[in-house]
Amino acid sequence: MAFIGSECYPFVKTGGLGDVMYALPKELAKQNCDVKVILPRYACIPEKYQNKMVYRGSFDMNLCSDGRSFYVGIMEYVWDGVVYDFIDNQEFFTNGNPYTNLIDDIPKFCYFSKAALAALNYMDWEPDIIHCHDWQAALVPVYLDTMFKDTPIGRAKTVLTIHNLRFQGVYDKKMISYWTGLPDYVFNKDALTVKWLDANMLKGGLTYADAITTVSGTYAWEIQTPEYGEDLDAHLRYHSGKLRGIVNGIDYDIWNPATDPRLANNYDLGNVLTEKRKNKKALQEELGLEVDDGKFVIGLVSRLTNQKGLDLVNEILPQLIDGNTQIVILGTGDAQYEDSFRYYENAYKGQVCSNIMYDETRAHHIYAGADALLVPSRFEPCGLTQLIAMHYGDIPIVRETGGLKDTVEPYNEFTNWGNGFTFDRYESGLLLDAINRAKTLYFTNRWCWDEMVQRNMDKDVSWESSARQYRDLYVDLTR
Ligand code: ADP
Repeated sequence: MAFIGSECYPFVKTGGLGDVMYALPKELAKQNCDVKVILPRYACIPEKYQNKMVYRGSFDMNLCSDGRSFYVGIMEYVWDGVVYDFIDNQEFFTNGNPYTNLIDDIPKFCYFSKAALAALNYMDWEPDIIHCHDWQAALVPVYLDTMFKDTPIGRAKTVLTIHNLRFQGVYDKKMISYWTGLPDYVFNKDALTVKWLDANMLKGGLTYADAITTVSGTYAWEIQTPEYGEDLDAHLRYHSGKLRGIVNGIDYDIWNPATDPRLANNYDLGNVLTEKRKNKKALQEELGLEVDDGKFVIGLVSRLTNQKGLDLVNEILPQLIDGNTQIVILGTGDAQYEDSFRYYENAYKGQVCSNIMYDETRAHHIYAGADALLVPSRFEPCGLTQLIAMHYGDIPIVRETGGLKDTVEPYNEFTNWGNGFTFDRYESGLLLDAINRAKTLYFTNRWCWDEMVQRNMDKDVSWESSARQYRDLYVDLTR
């Protein structure tokens, strides 16, 4: 099968999509699938990978409606059982960042979607399944069903995965029509067209794909409602028969407290209760917090954007300060949140630490040292931080939305079962209440808390089971 998408760890990554494009093909290869991943060859891909790429060939491809054609080069890199083919074109992919602005990005990803298919034909490689991701690759099913229908790859089935519905690739219809060279009939209101004059690349992909997936069952349901549907809810309801949710996993090679080289003390299910305390102290020392392993340490590792529920955190943060609680924030993003968290660090020195930065190592230290991890998102397609937290023995405190709802079962004090503390409506009072319930259990019933820590570490959040569900979907489609 072929994966087509705009980013893939470790070459280029800006979010969860990059993780999935890396981990899922790798896991499928382990399960004996023959996998190719097709990506743009951005100039920002680190030298060490660029140097290992091997030239596979090149050709000219017609792209625009006036017949304007472009160079397509194929550079290949094979790693861990997966073949990575990079589409090379210096005109489109010179910039340091994969995404710049829509005016440049739209032509870039029109070109990329078509070039990826043309490259498969050029390499004589006929996949059964073409799995594309987000709006940047959403034209792939449209091309495949139109201009590529009578070519060797024309019989492949397509899967389109929505990682975040907020981004859809919408622009003036004339411009997209020019850059894609697609036939006029795809620009109708049931396929690409929205609001009469615009074209929506994701919407076109959803129409033509054989199956649509998104990264959790709850999000698959939520995006069919006006509240979460980002104006495509009606379209998604219409296509709901081919829509399903499959939760992401985390990569156990990177996220494993027993072997993680970044940790002060490695630990596993057997010694978590003693060793995690040491990591907590190491974290407190590193961050200049009061060193005391009896404190309740709450972590928050997140992009600081409106999606992540930080308004709620800001509203109640002062009420969390009680001399027994410490709050550690790691993130970058909108200035308003960066500033407010900096303010709180100053106001509550020794109890709040705001790390306004992107730092992988510090993220690992926080997961290892914190008792609880906060994820109060407004919406969350899947969310990885709550999965990492559970695997590192932290108790997640989450809002019941999207993947958070599917992966964190609320703690039930009567049965002593569950994985974390949850709240439903987007209200700061409910978040405060959930945190207070967590605190109460931590300080008054440590035995039950510790059991939950161990239950979380034991929970299967690996890619293996997610990959199996994708494989079942592929098999269904090719039957
Ligand atoms: P999203 O893709 O919406 O940003 P996810 O929960 O799916 O959210 O993935 C977030 C990933 O990015 C996690 O692996 C998390 O540890 C990491 N991350 C987020 N912010 C930072 C940061 N400031 N420093 C290091 N890692 C971060």
